[in-house]
Amino acid sequence: MTIVSQVYLGNPASNNQQSISLFTENIELLRAHEKTILECAEYFFCDIAFASCSWPYVTGDGPLCLGYLLLGWRERLLLESCPTCVGEYLVTSFSGSPLSGSQSWSGFCTNCKTMQTSKNKPVQNPLIEKVTFIIKLRKHYPQKTWQFEEQDAMQFTFGGNGLKPVKRLRKTSVDLFQAVTLAELIKELKDGKIRPKNSPRTQAETALSSNDIRLKLF
Ligand SMILES: [Zn+2]
Repeated sequence: MTIVSQVYLGNPASNNQQSISLFTENIELLRAHEKTILECAEYFFCDIAFASCSWPYVTGDGPLCLGYLLLGWRERLLLESCPTCVGEYLVTSFSGSPLSGSQSWSGFCTNCKTMQTSKNKPVQNPLIEKVTFIIKLRKHYPQKTWQFEEQDAMQFTFGGNGLKPVKRLRKTSVDLFQAVTLAELIKELKDGKIRPKNSPRTQAETALSSNDIRLKLF
């Protein structure tokens, strides 16, 4: 496990009112097509600009794609009670400290039909359960893989002119899928032009196994 002190600071577009409106106006459409979205990687990894999670000490925080949100709502780990009306509250972002357990979150109330935030209120799901759930999702449904490229570099040496050419490996991330935008997804669902099934899990397994082979070769 990697220990880190930084926390995810969020997407610069996280307060984009246009994307929030698009999301809230079509939340019922998206939930009605949960199965379709979860079975198609291009839909599953659709970026929700304002959805994220953030915590210190342990890796795994960052943006939350649509597939993670839908699974979190289905498993009831990203559901809370609305701080205003106590209705069902779909969490889209949360943050907190795994040490103290304190947390705040924001999301959409299906009763008030508005986005709301809540801080340090009684919770249905402790922070550690949300954190554990998201970490497992990132492992099970990775959105990126890593590849190693050989590149030329120079290394200090006591002989010759003090430098010698060497080969170094550079690690770069590669997107496994070309996710659609939220606007594209909503249009395709409304138009009934549904893409064929393309399991996010199957492709991830293929990429991960090929990565293992590459790592062993090096
Ligand atoms: Zn409410």
